[in-house]
Amino acid sequence: MIPKILLSFDVEEFDMPLEYNFNITTDTQMEIGKKGLDNLMPIFNDQNYTTTLFTTANFANYYPYTIKVLSVKHEIASHTFFHSNFITAHLFESRIRLEDIIQKPVRGLRMPRMRQVPLTDIKEAGYSFDASIHPTWLPGRYNNFHLPRTKFSDQGLIRVPASVSPNFRIPLFWLSFKNFPYAMYLRLALQTLRKDGYLSLYFHPWEFTNITAFGLPNYTTKGSDTELLDKLYRFLNDLKKQAEFVTMSDFIEIANKE
Ligand SMILES: [Zn+2]
Repeated sequence: MIPKILLSFDVEEFDMPLEYNFNITTDTQMEIGKKGLDNLMPIFNDQNYTTTLFTTANFANYYPYTIKVLSVKHEIASHTFFHSNFITAHLFESRIRLEDIIQKPVRGLRMPRMRQVPLTDIKEAGYSFDASIHPTWLPGRYNNFHLPRTKFSDQGLIRVPASVSPNFRIPLFWLSFKNFPYAMYLRLALQTLRKDGYLSLYFHPWEFTNITAFGLPNYTTKGSDTELLDKLYRFLNDLKKQAEFVTMSDFIEIANKE
């Protein structure tokens, strides 16, 4: 099997400043999210790159046309209804709303901040896969060293963890991409790709905008905007020489056939 890249973006309102007690209006949260999405359009429109976009129904309600257009080439999955508040009913309601917008089935879920919810709730809401696992240790957030590092089936639900390196489970998530030197990040990513046969990576559109004015810590904002976009172009270009970009649903289907 040609190695696969599962590139995903959490398409959402930019609410992170609220975590740092910085006041940001809903309209601004949406505008920053949309600006990031617009900045990424050359990647979304590039024939080499197919992605999975975990979208809050709240964001999709603001920009239904954009989400519908993106759904032609990319997989739209759910990032629940609102990024900042959650009740169980949102699992179902977000799926229905997104399906209504794109007129296609929505199969996957990623919970905001990788929050864990009962798998029975996810299944009952009609999802067939979940991508809400980061199988590493993040100080102050979670310790998931006990969970499988690669795709597995759990109570009838397929779970696709975000990639971490085979040795020491170094996370390959957005903060690593931003903060590690390029050569180091690429080496870890290729090592993981060779070992696992695929890479599951996630970013947020708002990272690809200027987010220096919202009271966020330096490690989340440095090297953002166009600098990060250039880094991403370079990285995707290096990856496409050795792997194929597929949606999560396609990846699961291909893996089932083998
Ligand atoms: Zn999110």
